[in-house]
Amino acid sequence: MATFGFSVPRDIVYGENSLEKLATLKGKRAALVTGGSSMKRLGFLDRAEALLKKAGMDTIIIDGVEPNPSVETVWRGAKAMQDFQPDWIVAIGGGSALDAAKVMWCFYEHPNLTFEDIVPVGAMPPLRNKARFAAIPSTSGTASEITAFSVITDTKNHIKYPIVAADMVPDIAILDPVLPAAMPKHVTANTGMDVMAHATEAIASIAATSFTDPYALEAIRLVFANIATAYNEPGNMEARFNMHNASALAGMAFTNASLGLVHSLAHKIGGEFGVTHGLANAILMPYIIDFNRKSSGKYAMVEKALGIADLAQSIRDLNKKLGIPATFKDCDEVDFNEAKFKEVLERMSANAHTDPCTLTNPGKPTVADVKAIYTAAYYGQKM
Ligand code: NDP
Ligand code: MN
Repeated sequence: MATFGFSVPRDIVYGENSLEKLATLKGKRAALVTGGSSMKRLGFLDRAEALLKKAGMDTIIIDGVEPNPSVETVWRGAKAMQDFQPDWIVAIGGGSALDAAKVMWCFYEHPNLTFEDIVPVGAMPPLRNKARFAAIPSTSGTASEITAFSVITDTKNHIKYPIVAADMVPDIAILDPVLPAAMPKHVTANTGMDVMAHATEAIASIAATSFTDPYALEAIRLVFANIATAYNEPGNMEARFNMHNASALAGMAFTNASLGLVHSLAHKIGGEFGVTHGLANAILMPYIIDFNRKSSGKYAMVEKALGIADLAQSIRDLNKKLGIPATFKDCDEVDFNEAKFKEVLERMSANAHTDPCTLTNPGKPTVADVKAIYTAAYYGQKM
């Protein structure tokens, strides 16, 4: 028998106004890392800074982390940390801000490393020699506050690098639903269906275990029960609480069990057409569940546990309620030009097949399978 592991943050605090936890941290200096403007505009950045001051800490703010954060942004933040010498790094914002802060942390602690040094899995040296890390997500989606992952873009070659290191799992995750309650409607829909994709892929993963299944199953249940309310009534704090927790629970499952074809195909169609990650996942999910069903009994397990007749159909119905189209052809977020789709299909399928997420999909899919799924999801054919 092999030895398995299960890693999550030591402390997960959650619930309305759990942001207050910041006032209890012990340290001298904290670096607050955030995105473009939303946290400042909504008052959460000032609130976080005030709470850290209350804890007796001096603070600096490292802002301007862009969506799909770049290596350059990471270097800029690491340099500011080297000058300031924080003993806490507090990341507040969407997955982009949290991901960037994790890798800034690594280069703060190890200034002589290059980006290439940390790309191979297992290559990152130990962290926590200088600072600990608190993560406060403002979207209910990526679960970067829980995971060992960070996605950083090399803007020179337009390549997104998933960095994996167990030491990047934050020390504290603070899940305050007041933050995501400010998300625009379509962001609620897309990031929420990303949670559904994390949970349904983690449960069907060939690396799923008894440690990961319960979290994934509970996340699926919570998304079905709450996403439409969070979408239609943005201020409904109970729905926001449940969606924010669902995101973290799905994160606990997929950081340990990994993902599958939905993410492989979403990553590459995102690269070719620029479609939002969660939206691509939402469109792909029903097709891939239908395709995977012959290789996995897990969907039947979910259906039995939740009293659902057909998981793929329930996800189709949910997408409709959230204004998410059934096919890429009908998706007007970006230009899904048919000629371009045909032109890139072969290359995109080969690339999706080599995505690391394909490794844990059930049933060893081929490149031809990937191509068939893309085609079905583009035109709306049955799998
Ligand atoms: P982003 O962090 O990219 O944020 C998207 C937009 O939403 C930004 O314009 C941001 O504005 C705004 N925003 C964030 N929170 C709020 C809020 N509460 N109210 C209003 N606006 C808000 O989005 P995601 O969270 O979806 O993260 C996506 C990133 O995460 C990608 O880079 C992806 O590759 C990565 N990812 C990471 C994973 C992991 O395990 N680490 C897993 C999956 C994806 P502003 O910048 O002004 O704050
Ligand atoms: Mn995802």
